[in-house]
Amino acid sequence: MVLRDDPTLMFTNAGMNQFKEYFLGDATPKHSRVTDTQKCLRVSGKHNDLEEVGKDTYHHTMFEMLGNWSFGDPGDASKGYFKKEAIQWAWELLTDVFKIDSASLYVSVFEGSTDADQLDMDQEAYDLWKKIVPEDRIIMGNKKDNFWEMGDQGPCGPCSEIHVDIRSDAEKAKTPGKDLVNMDHPQVVEIWNLVFMQFNRKANGSLEKLPAKHVDTGMGFERLCMVLQGVQSNYDTDVFKPYIREIETITKSTYGKNEETDIAIRVVADHVRAVAFSIADGQLPSNTGAGYVIRRILRRAIRYGFTFLNTQEPFIFKLVETMSQEMGEAFPELKAQKHLIQNVIKEEEQSFLRTLDQGLILLENVISSAKGKEISGKKAFELYDTYGFPIDLTALILSERGLTLNEAEFNSALAEQKNRSRAASETSTEDWTILVDDNEQEFVGYDTLQTPVKITRYRKVTSKKEGDLFQLIFNITPFYGESGGQTGDKGYLEGASGDVVYIIDTKKENNLTVHLTKNLPKKLDQTFSAIVDEKQRKRSASNHTATHLLHQALRKILGTHVEQKGSMVRSASLRFDFSNFSKVTDEELQQVEDFVNARIEEQLQKEERRAIPYNQAIKDGAIALFGEKYGDAVRTIKFGKSMELCGGTHVQNTGEIWHFKITSESAVAAGIRRIQAITGDAAKEYFQKESEQFEEIKSLLKNPKDTIKAVEDLQSENSHLKKQIEELLKDKAANIKGELKSELSDKNGVQFLAKEVDLDAAAIKDVAFQLGGEVENLFLVLGSKKDGKAILSCYISKNLVNEKNLNAGQIVRELGKYIQGGGGGQPFFATAGGKNPAGLQEALDKAETYIN
Ligand code: ATP
Ligand code: MG
Repeated sequence: MVLRDDPTLMFTNAGMNQFKEYFLGDATPKHSRVTDTQKCLRVSGKHNDLEEVGKDTYHHTMFEMLGNWSFGDPGDASKGYFKKEAIQWAWELLTDVFKIDSASLYVSVFEGSTDADQLDMDQEAYDLWKKIVPEDRIIMGNKKDNFWEMGDQGPCGPCSEIHVDIRSDAEKAKTPGKDLVNMDHPQVVEIWNLVFMQFNRKANGSLEKLPAKHVDTGMGFERLCMVLQGVQSNYDTDVFKPYIREIETITKSTYGKNEETDIAIRVVADHVRAVAFSIADGQLPSNTGAGYVIRRILRRAIRYGFTFLNTQEPFIFKLVETMSQEMGEAFPELKAQKHLIQNVIKEEEQSFLRTLDQGLILLENVISSAKGKEISGKKAFELYDTYGFPIDLTALILSERGLTLNEAEFNSALAEQKNRSRAASETSTEDWTILVDDNEQEFVGYDTLQTPVKITRYRKVTSKKEGDLFQLIFNITPFYGESGGQTGDKGYLEGASGDVVYIIDTKKENNLTVHLTKNLPKKLDQTFSAIVDEKQRKRSASNHTATHLLHQALRKILGTHVEQKGSMVRSASLRFDFSNFSKVTDEELQQVEDFVNARIEEQLQKEERRAIPYNQAIKDGAIALFGEKYGDAVRTIKFGKSMELCGGTHVQNTGEIWHFKITSESAVAAGIRRIQAITGDAAKEYFQKESEQFEEIKSLLKNPKDTIKAVEDLQSENSHLKKQIEELLKDKAANIKGELKSELSDKNGVQFLAKEVDLDAAAIKDVAFQLGGEVENLFLVLGSKKDGKAILSCYISKNLVNEKNLNAGQIVRELGKYIQGGGGGQPFFATAGGKNPAGLQEALDKAETYIN
């Protein structure tokens, strides 16, 4: 469903996407006749059904398109098929095999066009249909509905749609189905489209006949189910019912009683499928591009749940279980990645619910303080910009309230902000000064770190952030430009007369290696020695090779579900992000470290192949990275059993890495973990520091023979002392308890004492409860002070609470005023804390008034 290497499309939106190269003639299909089912997502670009979904009962975001295909073979016409077979077979499948009543079916045929294309009506299709369908069921369709084009250029042709009328007989008698075809009626819908590709649209806009004709058909699986199961809505089929039932249970709502609730339930039931499949295909919700499309689908579901199903907690993630049960057999990736999908959805729900909560309150304020029916676009922008409250939701909520949004104002606020951020990152770039007319730049950095070069051109770039920098291009370079997660080389240029300029960074721009310097050499037109900082390069190479070994180790130890999701190779350290649903345990990290270090000890020699065909590399077992674009010819780097497609720099032998040490493991997003590690010199420094620390600890312990035993002794001594202190404190409390008991005085039959003691709150409570167990009719108020604070506790025997209507909670609240504090508790025991120890005595003096 997620497309990776099609710059024109983020998601598969029709069955033909996967076969595009066959139609364009860029590749030869293995089979000329194919049937398939294809997950499609129609939420952006040319096909965008998102706003319909939930509101109607037959459009989904994600749906399964069933298709049959013929890839015409111009050399052998007998292999493929065309209109005659496609039409006959479609009819046979629907009426003979599926037993759909032929009287409920209508078909459409292209009527021709009078525009520049001057296309004839599709007489061939009409004549074929006429043989099987009465003529009054054949509808003539215009170019918009019945002429299909892949894009501005390429294969295209007329199509024939099949519509089905599933209304009751009574309704059919009232309005003929023919009048409702293509009229957005929920029970008169298109189920199958047969496309006949017979033309090629050329770059100049003209059409030419294709030598090889193709058939491309698409039938919506969910709509077919609706017809075959005799229900009136896709959501009443067994494809969707399990979700609806689950949503009803979780949200305590009922489907089929109220239109708003129903829409919300349909939205959630639909959207979870789209989001889950997208995550399974590797496209997680994010802030940009395809990830943002997915985030918006999920947010639409969350917001419908929040508003119409009263969900305050994440719940959509729970439907992933249902989905895995329902579809997991046909789509094993759902089962395999269930936890990742659940975690990602849950986390998105949590964060968006927080945003919604906040945003809705703010929007409510905006609405209530609005003067007329129109809401200020500036306010809406503030909500969007500062709080992440999506503008389409604001617009939706306003329209539900009969209010409108000043969109022009919003758009200008948005444009202003874009201008501001553009200005902040503005750089002024001078034109290139050409010294040598040579556009070919050779990279020799895999084999050498030093080479004579000539500067072919340069220019000055000025930015607020970095000041003036010069970009230099050489005819040949040993410098590696930042790419593939590896940072660029540093180094210097040395001219004949000792003229040196430092290269502070190297970048890659449109396949060109650009060297950055702060100054220009005094004499530009000469041969320089270009020298890469060897130490820095060696460290980067060591970290890059270690990254490959780490990748291999993770897949071996955690499983092949581990996929690289990001990587950063610097000279100082490496960072590797990968999919894994739980924290990597300490034992697993140890195993990973051991695995990599074992490969280092084996001193594996680098096996490098340059410019081999991509398919060959993959066939040989090289790992290609998700989201990375590769040319036809690729480079493979192999160390033992680790083989990756890679353009980076590596050590010759893993022994050069010396040692691999993981320094941290953490979460980047739900289901994505990050490992940071060091190698070589950095690892040496790390162990050096550790050992210095150990020496320091030893000397603090007075250099014992056995350091560990010395620490253990210290620990046991410490716990022994702790126990002693506890005992002493207990004794002290017992003594105080005895004293207090002897000081009790009888006031009207109540044993009373109010006194300051030297105990903490817990000890006071302890003493009070012990006394309460020993003395009847006790009324005790104890106070203490420490570090500028005072506490006051009151204990009252339970019988007194009832008989004398005394309440400890109320008493400490009232007495608490003297110590400028507050508190509470239960009627028989309560405590107050305050910040005025000076008032403690007065509070204690007042205690007696309660029993007088
Ligand atoms: P409609 O006019 O109903 O939106 P369409 O013309 O967009 O349909 P096609 O692009 O021809 O449909 O797709 C072929 C088939 O795919 C349709 O006949 C229908 O059965 C199914 N289909 C299309 N869009 C959706 C959708 N959003 N949800 C479910 N099924 C769909
Ligand atoms: Mg459509």
